[in-house]
Amino acid sequence: MADVSSSPASASAPETLTVMGGGLVGSLLALYLARHGHAVELFERRPDIRGAGPIEGRSINLALSDRGWRALEGVGIAEAVREVAIPMHGRIMHDTQGGLTFQPYGQAGQSIYSVSRAGLNRRMLDLVEREPAIRLYFNQQCRRVDVKRQELELLDTATQQSRVVSYQHLFGVDGAFSAVRSALQRTDRFNYSQEFLDYGYKELTIEAAPDGQWPIEKNALHIWPRGQYMMIALPNLDGSFNCTLFFPYEGPDSFATLQTPEQVLAFFQRVFPDAVPLMPNLQTEFFENPTSSLVTIRCFPWAVHDQVLLLGDAAHAIVPFYGQGMNAGFEDCTILNELLHRHGPNWAEVFREFEAQRKPNTDAMANLAVYNFQEMRDRVADPRFLLQKKIESK
Ligand code: FAD
Repeated sequence: MADVSSSPASASAPETLTVMGGGLVGSLLALYLARHGHAVELFERRPDIRGAGPIEGRSINLALSDRGWRALEGVGIAEAVREVAIPMHGRIMHDTQGGLTFQPYGQAGQSIYSVSRAGLNRRMLDLVEREPAIRLYFNQQCRRVDVKRQELELLDTATQQSRVVSYQHLFGVDGAFSAVRSALQRTDRFNYSQEFLDYGYKELTIEAAPDGQWPIEKNALHIWPRGQYMMIALPNLDGSFNCTLFFPYEGPDSFATLQTPEQVLAFFQRVFPDAVPLMPNLQTEFFENPTSSLVTIRCFPWAVHDQVLLLGDAAHAIVPFYGQGMNAGFEDCTILNELLHRHGPNWAEVFREFEAQRKPNTDAMANLAVYNFQEMRDRVADPRFLLQKKIESK
């Protein structure tokens, strides 16, 4: 893979680049661009999450896989991230009798990794802050982009003051509901679609055991597949597990039918009986935590001349069942890095080739992600389907 430490073409023409969004992909992108010798201004809508508690109910865990690690290695930060990651060697299915089945994710030694979204983002912001070429601004909400004038409006959410700044090259990494993309949506021949599933998700917690033991197997992704819906759990460093219930909005077993704490408990005791004793705050969390929707967003083109480029969820938001949204966004950074090595700061060429290379791949990922929902919630429970082995119940 291309090394970012020596990029003669870009080193000869340093420019100030504007990165909108300091989430997972925006932070990594800023690091890559800075290593190519550019000054980077990184704007983030939220306050500095470091030192704050869980953010906007999105304290979820993410599965980090090979393509993600490769991108982190490309800027030399994989080891720093590995310190906050837990290997998951395979998935463990829980049936309604409490029986367990294991399916490995790969050959011996191969794993995907559980990382906390907030923990990873905090660590990446620390690394961004150490980079002298990056200036990081919090509480800066992009309100409007004028692609003709190459100007954008930023609202300082702390002071409520707005200002207009101009940009030369703008990178929109401001997530699934991107303000940068919404400006492109008003340009000619910009294709856009968003498709919501009839399912939502809710985050719940399996608490750490008081005796310091792991309440369920640490090095696995746990799945309670139930045909039309499922719950999954990923391990946290403190011994707890982040659970996510993927559940229909409407229907016989659905968010619509679970309206009281008693209904929630009775439902969980019926379908997830082995998890209930491990979830002491189930009823409170079920009503306090938001129910969030699941969307696939496709759009094209991602670039405007040499001036604007969308990356990460802003360009290709996918449903989470393949565990590849962040990984694909990180891979965007790997590919952009390779193109910067090839073309230097010929941004028009870099942007054109980037979208041509990435669009088919991220479209394929979006399709696989929807397909894999059926696999996870249903087919993994079928003993004929895959190589799997029974685990002795504890
Ligand atoms: P985001 O993480 O959304 O970051 C965007 C940033 O831009 C945020 O910091 C936001 O505050 C900021 N921003 C937004 N609007 C503005 C604005 N107007 N002005 C300035 N800043 C702004 N992916 C995986 O790879 N593996 C998984 O296991 C996985 N599990 C998932 C589970 C769930 C339930 C969900 C919902 C997603 C999951 N994903 C997973 C997908 C992953 O979360 C996203 O793909 C990833 O967060 C995208 O990163 P991003 O930086 O592009 O966008």
